[in-house]
Amino acid sequence: MARQVADIVIVGGGVIGCATAFFLRELGFTGRVVVFEKDSSYRFASTARSAASIRQQFTTPVSTQMSQFSWAFLAGLKERFGEEGEIALVRSAYLLLADAARVETLRGCHATFRQLGSDIAWLDPEDLARRFPWLNVEDLAGATLGLAGEGWFDAYMLLRLLRVQAKRRGVEFIDEEVTGLELAPGRIEGVRLASGAAWSCGSVVNAAGPFAGRVAAMAGCELPVWPRKRTMFVIRAPLPNKGLPFVFDSSGIAIRPEGDGFICSALPDEDRDPDPGEDFEPDHYLFEEKVWPALAHRIPALESLRLMSAWAGHYEMNLFDHNGVIGPHPEVTNFLFANGFSGHGVMHSPATGRGVAELLLHGRYVSLDLSPLGYERIAAERPIREALVY
Ligand SMILES: Cc1cc2nc3c(=O)[nH]c(=O)nc-3n(C[C@H](O)[C@H](O)[C@H](O)COP(=O)(O)OP(=O)(O)OC[C@H]3O[C@@H](n4cnc5c(N)ncnc54)[C@H](O)[C@@H]3O)c2cc1C
Repeated sequence: MARQVADIVIVGGGVIGCATAFFLRELGFTGRVVVFEKDSSYRFASTARSAASIRQQFTTPVSTQMSQFSWAFLAGLKERFGEEGEIALVRSAYLLLADAARVETLRGCHATFRQLGSDIAWLDPEDLARRFPWLNVEDLAGATLGLAGEGWFDAYMLLRLLRVQAKRRGVEFIDEEVTGLELAPGRIEGVRLASGAAWSCGSVVNAAGPFAGRVAAMAGCELPVWPRKRTMFVIRAPLPNKGLPFVFDSSGIAIRPEGDGFICSALPDEDRDPDPGEDFEPDHYLFEEKVWPALAHRIPALESLRLMSAWAGHYEMNLFDHNGVIGPHPEVTNFLFANGFSGHGVMHSPATGRGVAELLLHGRYVSLDLSPLGYERIAAERPIREALVY
């Protein structure tokens, strides 16, 4: 059989791969775009297991700009696509709490938010107590609260929407695993598939989520992006959840409304955060050791909470600096990364998809300069210093 040819191959059809495919068509690319997805049930994809929240509270200009664009895109989906554009978007806020040890850092972050144009309020403990009477503020020294552009949505609905729209505009989605990349000097010539087939291609986008490091290695490229397990707990509690923000406590736990109850999480300690391999079992010890005690302290009404269920998913963790890696590999120049978002890939998927599509179409960023997230910083050992990583 003759070998098939694609202009652009996207490895991975999660929210990042779908957003890239969507924006390629949106920006007018008419060539052949093929997305290879090894599991189109998306059972284990990060996107399907995400808490899918979006914040404006970043301290780096590039992340703030990505949030601004992505929020405008998400908030406009219903107007643009009617009922199909429904992604269950909840307009709410992130509430970041600081104790005395962290308050000066958070104050500095707040000044940066304002400089970057984000609409974020500073709250003293008295303001907090007035505004959120269910909160124990006795050991708090301040907080920031988003006033616009923050909330959460359904990541799977966003994925489906982008996938359907891309498909309608002629992007091909093929249920196949990419198992190898065929190299020529300085470029990738083709991809090999689990079925034994091989395709020739003009460019390849690595959108393989937690598997990105593995796909990069197929081209002999080192990419420090590997899976890390994160557990979300679903609870019920005698506290009305309507209108409550996404609370990030100074202890490191996070909680937000979901359905009739709440979802909450805690970061594992670094020495208990190995590569999980195929392990998707929730880490229940986190609830006992971290989540429950911190919640009962911070929100006394949650002392009598009921744990309903839990799920775990894999972050696509950039072990270098916990920020996205976007753009071409400096030596394998038709191989583009869209990886390593480490917990903020869903919120930044529209900006990432558009940026990667611009690179593929024009060879440069046209609307938003994402070059600070380029791969070069890894080789040069210049990490991005984002103060707020969750
Ligand atoms: C518990 C949890 C909570 C989160 N909360 C948030 C949040 O609040 N806000 C936020 O913005 N982000 C959050 N994230 C992170 C976010 O979900 C990810 O950044 C995002 O989903 C990454 O999308 P992706 O398309 O790169 O990866 P994925 O969704 O994992 O998609 C990658 C796809 O590539 C496919 N694939 C991999 N290798 C191959 C191959 N060789 N061949 C073919 N297909 C392949 C996989 O099957 C998969 O479907 C959270 C993640 C988790 C796990």
